[in-house]
Amino acid sequence: MPERTESESRKLLRRLRDTLATTGGGQDRLDRITHLIADSMGTEVCSIYLFRDTDTLELCATEGLKAEAVHKTRMKLGEGLVGRVARSGLPVNTANAPQEKGFRYMPETGEELYSSFLGVPIQRVGEKLGVLVVQSRTAREFSEDEVYALEVVAMVLAEMTELGVFASDSDGMRALHKQSVMIRGGTGQEGAAEGRVWLHEPRVVVTNPVADDPLTEIERIRAAVGKLRVSVDDLLSAESLDKDQKAVLEAYRMFANSRGWLKRMEDDIARGLSAEAAVEKEQSATRARLEQVPDAYLRERLHDLDDLSNRLLRILTGQGTDTGATMPENPILVARNIGPAELLDYGRKLKGVVLEEGSVGSHAAIVARALAIPLVIHADRIVTEALNGDPILVDGDQGIVHLRPEETVARAFRDKIAMQAAAQQRYASLRGLSAQSKCGTVTALMMNAGLMADLPSLEGSGAEGVGLFRTELQFLVRNKMPQRAELAALYARVMDAAKGKRVAFRTLDIGSDKVLPYMKPQDEPNPAMGWRAIRVGLDKPGVLRMQLQALIRASKGRPLTVMFPFITELSEFTTARAQVLHELEREKALGHTIPARVEIGAMLETPSLAYAPRAFFELTDFVSIGGNDLKQFFFAADRENERVRRRYDTLNVSFLNFLSQIIARCAETGTPLSFCGEDAGRPIEALAFAALGLRALSMRPASIGPVKALLRRVDLGEARAVIDRAIAEGAETVRPALMAWLADQPEQP
Ligand code: PEP
Ligand code: MG
Repeated sequence: MPERTESESRKLLRRLRDTLATTGGGQDRLDRITHLIADSMGTEVCSIYLFRDTDTLELCATEGLKAEAVHKTRMKLGEGLVGRVARSGLPVNTANAPQEKGFRYMPETGEELYSSFLGVPIQRVGEKLGVLVVQSRTAREFSEDEVYALEVVAMVLAEMTELGVFASDSDGMRALHKQSVMIRGGTGQEGAAEGRVWLHEPRVVVTNPVADDPLTEIERIRAAVGKLRVSVDDLLSAESLDKDQKAVLEAYRMFANSRGWLKRMEDDIARGLSAEAAVEKEQSATRARLEQVPDAYLRERLHDLDDLSNRLLRILTGQGTDTGATMPENPILVARNIGPAELLDYGRKLKGVVLEEGSVGSHAAIVARALAIPLVIHADRIVTEALNGDPILVDGDQGIVHLRPEETVARAFRDKIAMQAAAQQRYASLRGLSAQSKCGTVTALMMNAGLMADLPSLEGSGAEGVGLFRTELQFLVRNKMPQRAELAALYARVMDAAKGKRVAFRTLDIGSDKVLPYMKPQDEPNPAMGWRAIRVGLDKPGVLRMQLQALIRASKGRPLTVMFPFITELSEFTTARAQVLHELEREKALGHTIPARVEIGAMLETPSLAYAPRAFFELTDFVSIGGNDLKQFFFAADRENERVRRRYDTLNVSFLNFLSQIIARCAETGTPLSFCGEDAGRPIEALAFAALGLRALSMRPASIGPVKALLRRVDLGEARAVIDRAIAEGAETVRPALMAWLADQPEQP
C-alpha cells in the first residue's frame, strides 16, 4: 500500500470525523460528506444511497447529480448498478457504466454525463445499510487503492449510520432500527406474547471508527488477536470436546492464526480505521463474499468467522455479554441460538423466545415447551434487526415475529392475546370438572412435564396426573452426568409436588436429537432410528440402573410408575422390566424402603410394537402411545424436517385405522392405554382419539382446558359415527367431516 495513499486516506477519514462531529441535522451531515468525498477522491460525483426499507434504496445525498433527485430517485435491491452493489455486498468498478450489464438510466439525476462508476456497499456485519458511489466523466477504472479507500470510508459511514448520526425527521431518512419489521419463521412452541427485546448476546457498539494513531491501533489489534489465539487454544485443550465441537474450534484456530486476516485488518488501520472498525470491515467483507457461496459447509464457516470476529471485538472493546443493561419488563429473548441450560437459567422470567436458528426438536425448543413460553425459530436476521428494548410481538402459533410493530398491528395482536386469555379463563372455570362427554364417557386428561418448573401447572391446569415425565431434560441441562443422590432428591420433589397424583417417569430417552453434552456422540446417519432411548439403556445399563435406583429411593414407599421409551419388541420390554425388578430387590436388600406398588409400562413409538406377541400386552402394566415418534415412523416423515413434518394429517384414515388396531389389542388384554404425543393436546385430534376409544390423554398443561372444553361439548358416539362414515365414504382424512359436524354442535353453556 503506497504511503501517500494511506496518509491521504487517513486525512479524509479525519475530515469525515470532524464533519460528523459538528452540529447539524442528518441531511446536512450527509450533504457535507458527499462534498468531502468527491473533493478528496477527485471525482465529479459522490452519492449516498440508503435503504428506505429492506428492499428499496433511496438517493439520500449527492454531490454532482441533480439536487432534485435527492429523496426522489429510488431503486429496488438488485436493480441497476447501485442495486447490484447492495444485493451482492461487493463493489462494482467500471470505466463505462452505461455499457455495464444491468445499468439503469435515471434521467432525473443527470448521470448520463458520467462514464466511470465505483460503488461500494455501506454495510455493517451482514446488515446492508446502503451504497456509496463515486462517478466521473473520464472513462477510467478506479485503481485498487481507490476502491480500498472508498471501502474504508463506507465502513465509517456504516458505523455512523448505526449510531444514528444521519437520522433526521425528513421523510427519506428514518433512523435505522426504527422501522417495523415482520419476520416469518417457524413455530417452536405455540402461544402469543408481547414484550421487549432482550438480546442474549448484545451487539458490540463501536463508537470510534476513526483513529489518529495507526501504530497504537496496530498494537491493540495484535495484542487482541494474541489473546484470541490463546483463548481458542484453551478451548481446544478442553477434554470433553466432541468431534463437531473440535472441528469448529479447529476452524476458529485456522482463522485466528490466518496471517491474511490480520494483515488486512492492519491495512485497514493504516488507512485510518480504528482496530474495532477494521475487525468489522473484514467481518462484513467476508460475510458478503461467503454469502454468495451456496455450499452449506462454507456457510457454516461463515458463522465460525463471525463468532470469532465477535470475540475479537469483545476483547478490543471490553464489552462482555454483560453490558450493564437492565432486563426490560416482559422480556422476549432474541438470540441466534441458545443452549438448554442457558434458557433454563432465564426461566419463567421470559415471555417469549425468538431464535434465528433452532429446530422443533432442539433442546432449547424442549425447554421452551416445558416453560410454556412461545418460541419462534428460523427468524431470519432477527439478531441483526433487533435492539435491546425494542417492542416485539411473538406469534408462536403462526411462527411470526413483529419487531417494532405499527400500532394497528400491535392492537390486533393484543386482541388476539386478550381472546386467548379470556378463553383461558373459561377453561379455568372447568378446572374442577372432569372431561365427561355428553354420552357420559370420561376421558382422563394428564399433563406432560420434564422440569420441576412444570409441576405448579399440575394444579393450575386441572390435570389428573403427569402422563409423561421426560427425565432426559434433567440430563440435558447439566454439563456433567447427574449423580444418583441428586436425581433421587429431584424425583422426590416431583412426587411431593404431585401430592399423590400419578407421575409416569419415562426413563432416559437420549440419542436421536437429544445428545447429552457430556456423552460421546455417535456418528449416525439416521439418529432417530439409531442407538437411542431404551436401546442405549439396555446396551449400557449403568445409567439406566442408576436412574431406576434414584426413582425407587425417591418414592420413599409411595407408588411408583416407570415407563420405557421406544420399546420395539417384546424382549426389550422383558429385559427392561427385569431390570426394575432386580433393582427393587437390590434396594430392598440394602435396607431402602421400596415403593408400595410399581407400575411398569412401555411407550409404543414404533409400528412393530403394535403387532407384538400377546405376551407383551399381558405383561406390561400400561401402554402409552408416543405419537410424535409413532407418526414419524408410520408415515416415514421426519418430525424434525420442516419440509415433511406437517405433510401427513394425524386424522389420516390410515393412521386412525392403525390406532384402532392398537386400541383393540389393548382392549383384548385389558391393558390400560394412553396417548402422550403432542397431538393429544390438539382439540380435534383429541376428540378423534377419544371417539376411537382412547380413555387417557397426556398433553401440555395449556392444552388441557381447550381439550376438556371440546370433549365436554360432544357425544363421542356421534363423533365416532362421523368418523366411521367418512372412512366408509373413502375419505383420506376425517378432518373435514369432523369439522363440519363440530360446527353444528351447540356451544357448552
Ligand atoms: C413421542 O414420541 O410422542 C413422545 C412423547 O416422546 P418424545 O416427544 O419425547 O420423543
Ligand atoms: Mg418419542
